[in-house]
Amino acid sequence: MLRNRIIPRSTPRILSTNPPLRRVQFQQPAHRMASSTTNGAGADVGASINDILKSWNFTSKLPADALYPTPADSHKTPRGEIGPRMVRDAIFTWVRPQPVKDPELLAVSPAAMRDLGIRPGDEKNPDFVATVAGNKIQGWNEEKGEGGYPWAQCYGGFQFGSWAGQLGDGRAISLFETTNPETGVRYELQLKGAGLTPYSRFADGKAVLRSSIREFVVSEALNALGIPTTRALSLTLLPDEKVRRETIEPGAIVARFAQSWLRIGNFDILRSRGDRKNIRRLATYLAEDVFGGWENLSARLEDPDKPTESPAPQRGVPSDKIEGPSESAENRFTRLYREVARRNALTVAKWQAYGFMNGVLNTDNTSLYGLSIDFGPFAFMDNFDPMYTPNHDDSLLRYSYRNQPSIIWWNLVRLGESLGELLGAGEGVDKKKFVEDGVEEDEASELIARAEKIITQTGEEYKAVFLGEYKRVMTARLGLKNFKESDFDQLFSELLDAMEALELDFNLFFRRLSSVKISELESEQARQDKAAVFFYQDGVTGSGGEEEGRKRMGAWLERWRQRILEDWGDGSSVSEEADAQRTDAMKKVNPNFIPRSWILDEVIRRVEKGKERDVIDRLMIMALNPFEDSWAGREFNGKTYEGDKEEETRWTADVPRVGRAMQCSCSS
Ligand code: AMP
Ligand code: MG
Repeated sequence: MLRNRIIPRSTPRILSTNPPLRRVQFQQPAHRMASSTTNGAGADVGASINDILKSWNFTSKLPADALYPTPADSHKTPRGEIGPRMVRDAIFTWVRPQPVKDPELLAVSPAAMRDLGIRPGDEKNPDFVATVAGNKIQGWNEEKGEGGYPWAQCYGGFQFGSWAGQLGDGRAISLFETTNPETGVRYELQLKGAGLTPYSRFADGKAVLRSSIREFVVSEALNALGIPTTRALSLTLLPDEKVRRETIEPGAIVARFAQSWLRIGNFDILRSRGDRKNIRRLATYLAEDVFGGWENLSARLEDPDKPTESPAPQRGVPSDKIEGPSESAENRFTRLYREVARRNALTVAKWQAYGFMNGVLNTDNTSLYGLSIDFGPFAFMDNFDPMYTPNHDDSLLRYSYRNQPSIIWWNLVRLGESLGELLGAGEGVDKKKFVEDGVEEDEASELIARAEKIITQTGEEYKAVFLGEYKRVMTARLGLKNFKESDFDQLFSELLDAMEALELDFNLFFRRLSSVKISELESEQARQDKAAVFFYQDGVTGSGGEEEGRKRMGAWLERWRQRILEDWGDGSSVSEEADAQRTDAMKKVNPNFIPRSWILDEVIRRVEKGKERDVIDRLMIMALNPFEDSWAGREFNGKTYEGDKEEETRWTADVPRVGRAMQCSCSS
């Protein structure tokens, strides 16, 4: 009898043998509607943070750390005694945030308030501030010693390709789940920087203001761009907390929320301990509770009656119709695995299409829900360079832009290994003997072969979903209505090669292209003249300089013009009206503002050193409404927004030379 059999690792060849994948795009996902930031935020909408609908499904359905079997056991333990240790046979530990002195609420995201169903203005309520600072435990009845209680998750992870053992929520503490009655979407609210937990290892459980500003802004910016991500509700300064990093820095807490905070690392740790019972339990929880039921998962591929489209409805990820593998002994756990893979394929495709890099794509930073998660040394691409990584410590470029799709697949292979037994068991997955005792020795090789086949097939599906999504988003970003096979080489690849050679700014290119009129591109001379709008004001820094740049971009503009004529006109001309519609459509997918590293650095400096506060709200308005032409003087959240014209012009213009392709370290 072979208990706790864990499938050996299969090589993640699926993407690494291919030419480097370079980039992707997106359609208006359903969740954009539910999370748009400008409309409908009437003052009477929503409830106080005290009154929003709360639940604790995660902790009621999954096993707690046996040292504190109930919230009361944890609550009566002096806070200072709850510190780092190894936690086995558990998915989480009950632990309350460390109380803090004089928290100062710096900012909230109006979009987050709306999506959580919290009333605008409730941020002025002392209970709101106490909750997001960790001083008030919502749901807990102090007198009776019962109720809902905060918790930290146990997970592990492969960091930079090596097994790192137990990690877990070392400074993040979840407070409760809350369901927005309007949208039906349930989120889990969590405080990052809330003190030591059993998972803090050698660290202090705190977060610094610098990285908290970055996470607060980028979470909301990605969401506004339509990229699945964890979100941020508030940013709180802890003036009393002095945090030691390279220097002493002010502490802060971000209240962040997501449909799920589960990561591939949650399964990694269970697998490393041979905890097959909890692997099954967590997988079942993920399917039934997080994805809302097995029936919502990717369809059985060999079932002709069901369409192959997925993922689950209503959760904010657009579906597509890419064909997956044609046959496999699929059971429900295989469909769960495929669901996670497909969601991640869609998300990484959008990262590539918008030039976003996470910077640390370890398995503990790879979401099972397919969200962008855990923002450390992230960045948006400035001048296009596929080898760029924003992570100063990533000397091997493991997490560089061009590697992101392959690395996410590498991480998904680790997940396949953790789920391997359940995948490979096929129809026999619910047999009593298998459930209780595991795999028989004489069945092991067959089971392993089946699991490996499923993982390999899922890799093909991942690649297909990724490419389909990438093409879709790029097609939209270039203002085309339809993708043609020849576009991949002739438009996408040639554009990226030219951008790389000429060192052009990736995101500014698309925004500026949106406003170029087809009537301005009729002669070769006109195209070469127009090409200059894509160059940095201080000149072309890339190879060949300005002259070469004009020729190359001029030639590309001609190919692009031909495709626009095909898609928006009759093949040889396009009406002014249709061309204006094309401009409008492009501006809806090509942001005018993205929170670049240099802008975040400027804001951090002004908040920390200059004690400025309003600048965070201004940055947030732009991040939440990235497709606008301008912001100052316009109406947002039902109010005329004063803004700062000079600042917004600077923040949407060329990146200053010293601010391009910045890198930062992991210390946060
Ligand atoms: P990250 O690189 O931020 O994804 O973190 C990796 C692991 O280290 C996670 O388990 C974090 O919770 C933990 N961690 C990072 N920084 C701290 C900190 N200051 N205190 C406690 N745990 C931390
Ligand atoms: Mg992490």
